[in-house]
Amino acid sequence: MSTEISIVNVSDWGSIEEAVVQAIRLIEDDLPFDFNRSNYILLKPNLISKNKNACTQPEFVEVVAKYLKDKGVPANSIKIGDSPGQTQKTGSYVAREIGLWDICKKIGLQFIDFESEQPVKEFIEDAAFMKDFYVSKPVSDCDILINLPRLKTHAETVITGAIKNYYGIIPGGLKAKKHLLGKNANEFGSVIADNFSWVVRNKPKRLTVFDLHTIMEGPKGPVAGAMVNWNLVLAGTDELALDIAALEIGSRNGIRDVPHLNESFQRGLGVGLLEEIEFKGMSIADAKKQAKKFNIPSDLMSRGVSVITSNFAYKVMKKIPVLNRNLCTQCGECSEVCPKKVITFSKGQYPVFGRKGCISCLCCMETCAYKAIGIKRRGVAGLFDPS
Ligand code: SF4
Ligand code: SF4
Repeated sequence: MSTEISIVNVSDWGSIEEAVVQAIRLIEDDLPFDFNRSNYILLKPNLISKNKNACTQPEFVEVVAKYLKDKGVPANSIKIGDSPGQTQKTGSYVAREIGLWDICKKIGLQFIDFESEQPVKEFIEDAAFMKDFYVSKPVSDCDILINLPRLKTHAETVITGAIKNYYGIIPGGLKAKKHLLGKNANEFGSVIADNFSWVVRNKPKRLTVFDLHTIMEGPKGPVAGAMVNWNLVLAGTDELALDIAALEIGSRNGIRDVPHLNESFQRGLGVGLLEEIEFKGMSIADAKKQAKKFNIPSDLMSRGVSVITSNFAYKVMKKIPVLNRNLCTQCGECSEVCPKKVITFSKGQYPVFGRKGCISCLCCMETCAYKAIGIKRRGVAGLFDPS
């Protein structure tokens, strides 16, 4: 197995468009698909928080979208979307906060919340932990998936990059429920690899453009770490190879340090050996000279954080929908969209939200045109909630 990765220097922020276009062009001839033969291209940045530093840079997303439009891909074939995890409401909320929403409007593209449609139930026969799960409808529907991660440290998974960014294909708070399947850092690494195995098998037309312009490092990642300029853009189709390359650029021995990379390598989900990667553009040695050593969390810390999040924090923070009767028109649409059928509705009455069985996907909240559904955290009661 081998793969190609392009590395391009971003000498100054003003040259970001040129750099991204060059990174894509360097590998474009070998892409197993044609952008112009697609009906639906989905761009998936990392929109984890209203802190812009924690997200893929909006301008970076804009440049990739403009590249597709310049190639003649119709605007109505391109969508941009994501689903944040526990700490923020929706992708569109984050997009508004960081300026991506305005960029979408400016370039005439639709931003889509992953919770806006009923998710699709999927099965992973050979999964280690996540045998069944829900995939957001836009991800299920798209025929080309463009992954736009930003390199950051992650207190639990050590890094978040090309592979981890796909964990956002699971809608809303359901991510947290699936997180509970992994009781320690290694097991959660397997859950991430399960999710990635679905992507590899079901979305063969993929491209990753990796934001390494300014990376986040240190123990406070992926939301509040320290920002460091690496001034690089990477592009390729093999996410494992891209993550390994990023760690090599940061002078880290990737596979063993990061459970989800190790697990993906063991399962043959990508290229995990540097000698099997052909680098185009800048050499990896030159990229390494340009970047400072990547300050990743210690093994001890990631294991400790994992125990806390897997057994306690996510149960407490689990989101549940709450009805605002003053805004509800009793239309019943929330009941129709709920994949678990836990919203009871009778004509002329208010919907009743069942707690048991609710998977916190928040499809109901996104569907309600009258903004009559809010969310609250489950709180300590979540610790005793079997659902
Ligand atoms: S979709 Fe909104 S307005 Fe309609 S019944 Fe549900 S909560 Fe009420
Ligand atoms: S009630 Fe729960 S499971 Fe049903 S759509 Fe709302 S968040 Fe999802």
